[in-house]
Amino acid sequence: MRRRLFTFCSVLSLLLCAATAVLWASSYRTFHGFRLPSAQTLTIGSTSGNLTLSWYHPDPRFAIIFHNRAYSYHRFFVGFFSSEWLDPNYSNWLKYPVGTIAEWEFALHDWFLMLLFAVAPMLWAIDGARRRRRTISGFCSTCGYDLRASPDRCPECGAVPEKAMA
Ligand SMILES: [Zn+2]
Repeated sequence: MRRRLFTFCSVLSLLLCAATAVLWASSYRTFHGFRLPSAQTLTIGSTSGNLTLSWYHPDPRFAIIFHNRAYSYHRFFVGFFSSEWLDPNYSNWLKYPVGTIAEWEFALHDWFLMLLFAVAPMLWAIDGARRRRRTISGFCSTCGYDLRASPDRCPECGAVPEKAMA
């Protein structure tokens, strides 16, 4: 039962890993964005090899300034970055002080996500190989106990070997 759950999670993780790879490849060509309907200022996006969660300032005039690039951009390896207004002309016009944060973004690199999703399938494959090796050499596939004296049932953990089930 535990093994079956592990297999299910590994397959799911592998699918997510593949989906991230597709998203990663397409993120350089187009920006995929999904604005959360309940919160108009929150957007989930995929751009330039990153998966992002962004918060925008609710004032729609800020979008105009984004095109004029009157903001600074702080970016970390994996984590938060923010855009703030530096140009005093724009700040005066908008009546917001210089340094007002216009966008917060949490970004995760796609390769990092892929690595994360690959952990479970890799452990699953390693575990499967170990089980096969144990079964072939006459040991319990669950706990590794020597089954030469009791081939029908493991006296240590109670597991029934596949050979005995057949
Ligand atoms: Zn056993």
